[in-house]
Amino acid sequence: MKVTFLGTGTSQGIPIIGSKHPVCLSKNPKDKRLRVSILVEWGNFSYVVDCGPDFRCQMLRAGVDKIDGILFTHEHTDHVMGLDDIRPFYFRQGDIPIYGHKRVLKALKKRFKYIFKIKNKYPGAPTVILNRIKNEPFIISGLEVIPINGKHAELQVFGFKFGDFAYLTDMKTVKNKEIQKIKNVKVLVVNALRIESHRSHFNLEEALEFIKKVNPGKAYLTHISHLLGFHDDVEKILPDNVFLAYDSLQITIS
Ligand SMILES: [Zn+2]
Repeated sequence: MKVTFLGTGTSQGIPIIGSKHPVCLSKNPKDKRLRVSILVEWGNFSYVVDCGPDFRCQMLRAGVDKIDGILFTHEHTDHVMGLDDIRPFYFRQGDIPIYGHKRVLKALKKRFKYIFKIKNKYPGAPTVILNRIKNEPFIISGLEVIPINGKHAELQVFGFKFGDFAYLTDMKTVKNKEIQKIKNVKVLVVNALRIESHRSHFNLEEALEFIKKVNPGKAYLTHISHLLGFHDDVEKILPDNVFLAYDSLQITIS
């Protein structure tokens, strides 16, 4: 299984438009972060987790020419606003399967009314196949995916475990019962926003505590704000098996 980090930034991305913050002005490509998303590939299959405002750019940058589906963690703007840009995939492949909590699917129907229209639908609009996820395993292209239920402040969010790889973003609280599902996983990705605490995201300290509880082989941090600091500086203070993800990083899970 191959995972490509399509984006590793928090909701505004890095750099933030107009910001003079040193991290936003950094020349290091690792300090430039599009909105958070990953591409997961195995065999001939490719799935994207979340589809934010940078989706088009991410698909072009990673050279993706086919997707088998999109899994949504939750319905916030930085995770869903690229949905219109599935059009090239739709034109070539037909209806695109999407997966999400029923609340997320409802939110998408509201935001992208024209995509879900049945009568007099504009011919250029894409069509999606809705797949409702509950907190129980489901199969995509022959692979079992285990949802991990968590909270983003008050909002329910799903993380996903694909084989020996787990991806969790926008988490603030995860119950012990859910942690057990990913205990000792080979590779864990989890959000770490910044140094200071935040009401709806793990800060660095909380992410590191969470990683300790999960005890993965390796962990990568994502959904990063400019306030976490320069990529190269933060990497130096992390435990041996914890790394900062960066855009276009690829990892293989055997
Ligand atoms: Zn987010």
